[in-house]
Amino acid sequence: MSQPTTPLFGPDGSALRALVVEDEPNLADVLIRMLTYEGWVAAQARTGAIAVAVATEFKPDVVVLDVMLPDGSGLDVLRRLREQNPAVCVLFLTAKDSLEDRIAGITAGGDDYVTKPFSFQEVSARLRGLVRRAGLARSIEDNGLVVGDLRMDEDAREVRRGEDLVELTVTEFELLRLLMRNPRVVLSKAQILDRVWSYDFGGGGHVVELYVSYLRKKLDNGGPPLIHTVRGIGYVLKPSP
Ligand code: CA
Repeated sequence: MSQPTTPLFGPDGSALRALVVEDEPNLADVLIRMLTYEGWVAAQARTGAIAVAVATEFKPDVVVLDVMLPDGSGLDVLRRLREQNPAVCVLFLTAKDSLEDRIAGITAGGDDYVTKPFSFQEVSARLRGLVRRAGLARSIEDNGLVVGDLRMDEDAREVRRGEDLVELTVTEFELLRLLMRNPRVVLSKAQILDRVWSYDFGGGGHVVELYVSYLRKKLDNGGPPLIHTVRGIGYVLKPSP
């Protein structure tokens, strides 16, 4: 499978939620697997009635909705989902010749559709377009750095490991920024000193060791380490295998 595209996040930094409503089990499974791989929280329902019930608890941001369901039309399901959440975005899955005109009418309202058979890339691109147009998502690809599950929004000066916000001092932030701008590059203590502290800083390599230990404590929090020591040389930031 190819590398996932840059994940999208909700405005509060949480993962986006997709409900897949599709009665063909293989297709539903593939969609769920691929959405999960791309960083969505995904749930599935095989009928319209189940979809409406699941949505009450799951509260999806988007619904991937098959038009032809065993217990009726996806259009009716959409009406019921909209009663719960008028803002929910919908990507319809349609068979080639079914209902295309009616669907086209609905997409004028901001929803979208793909025609079976479709590629997952197509579904992924349409979903990204949907949530962006709806203002539901932000991606940090424009103003952020990502290494593994570590994300830095440089403009907001915000760091998250997974879902957890990590509070950093100014110096810790600058040190991490240097490491994140050079993922998988071994940086010597001298290089780090030079770039994070100023050239005329009197301190030695021990201050780098000290701040790396602060960062590790805050970032790892018992999880797999991100900053690795390269003995005799310095440090490298890389995602754990
Ligand atoms: Ca179907």
